[in-house]
Amino acid sequence: LTTGRSVEEISKIRQNNVNPILNPLYKKPLLIHQGHMQWLFDNDGKRYLDMFGGICTVSVGHCHPTITEVVSEQFKSLVHISNLYHQPKLFEYSKKLAEKMPGDLKVVYLLNSGSEANDLAILLARLYTGNNEILSLKNCYHGMSYQTMGLTSISHYKYPVVPPVAMHNVMNPDIFRGIWGGSHCRDSPVQTSRQCSCSSSECQACDKYIDVLKNEFRSTISRGKLAGFFAESIQGIGGTVQFPKNYIKKAYEIVKDNNGLFISDEVQTGFGRTGDHFWGFEGHGIIPDIVTMAKGIGNGFPMSAVVTTKEISQALTKASHFNTFGGNAVASAVGLAVLEIIEKEKLQQNSKEVGTYLLTELGKMKQRIPNIGDVRGKGLMIGVELIESDGNFTSLSHDKYESFFEKCKDMGLLIGTGGFNKNVVRIKPPMCITKEDADFTLEVIEKALLATIH
Ligand code: PMP
Repeated sequence: LTTGRSVEEISKIRQNNVNPILNPLYKKPLLIHQGHMQWLFDNDGKRYLDMFGGICTVSVGHCHPTITEVVSEQFKSLVHISNLYHQPKLFEYSKKLAEKMPGDLKVVYLLNSGSEANDLAILLARLYTGNNEILSLKNCYHGMSYQTMGLTSISHYKYPVVPPVAMHNVMNPDIFRGIWGGSHCRDSPVQTSRQCSCSSSECQACDKYIDVLKNEFRSTISRGKLAGFFAESIQGIGGTVQFPKNYIKKAYEIVKDNNGLFISDEVQTGFGRTGDHFWGFEGHGIIPDIVTMAKGIGNGFPMSAVVTTKEISQALTKASHFNTFGGNAVASAVGLAVLEIIEKEKLQQNSKEVGTYLLTELGKMKQRIPNIGDVRGKGLMIGVELIESDGNFTSLSHDKYESFFEKCKDMGLLIGTGGFNKNVVRIKPPMCITKEDADFTLEVIEKALLATIH
């Protein structure tokens, strides 16, 4: 373990030379020197269980030995050429990634970040449909480039500049915090759950949110003039928000009725994380027109992709689409290795098993602790919404949440925070975690929460 610079030295550099928005998350900044699989080590050599995985990014494990080997071998033979020549890795990787996609989703564009992928999806949708209007959901996060800031609907990530044109955010179908949920869900009485567990396709809450979406085409966008509709399969930064069953399916039909393309942002939900499926959208029973992906695609290596159909890809041949680093030999080698590791180590299956166990046990904890308002998610994409025990679902106060968060870190557990009121614990670890890691997580969360509220 390297000890390197001290927290104090780093803090000084931060004050003078670093993007000032990069504030430390904890009261005493956590200085991480090393990672190994689901573990991180700070400069004092203390070990943490990383249940946030670099915000859903470290998919197969920190410094996974296979990836380390693949990168070092690739560096020895070829790092970069311009895309004016061919290098085999880009082709091998594109083929392998396309094999993971259903339907006609077979054309792959390799890029460098999630924002860049969503930017390209906006362009593709506009070029293909000849329309300009783009829709996304409130409380979504799709990136921070100028255009994707228009898609993103969380003001914390929006700057007060002239917004990009023809972008609209429609009411979020949030069963827990939204205006419809609980008793509006056919099979889900408000006393026991505010989540949608409707077994039939007739969910009143879903239909009401769908009506709002339909009304967009009477109030804001002319009928038939949609370019694209963006949705995460489960909202990530928004606080692991799951939509009512069938919302995405019904939204897809409305998008088609209005000549638009459906774009699934799988930046957080892709690559087996949701357990049942390799892609989150498969859980909604649709095949999108465009899929964007990043984060877990490279296990921490900066890369992203857009996948679409041959027909839609033709729209981009009207000019020359060029990207210097996209599909670079090292990035493609990493992407290939990630896909192989997910298969070989059965990480999608592990996400399902350990994730279901965590969700079940957190659900039991909710019965014991009134400050747990909601437990939701799928596989290893989990949210735990903390509330006051006032019977009104008031979000846990910021001070209490912070205190809980610090306690978890002190006990060796790293988790994430999200949600409209920043009161949702986000759990999205490397997919290699074990049941023992899940037990440790449960123990620390319960201890920290009880110590906070008593
Ligand atoms: N989409 C989603 C769902 C994301 O969570 C993120 C990043 N948090 C992005 C897009 C943007 O990715 P990047 O930060 O790589 O631009």
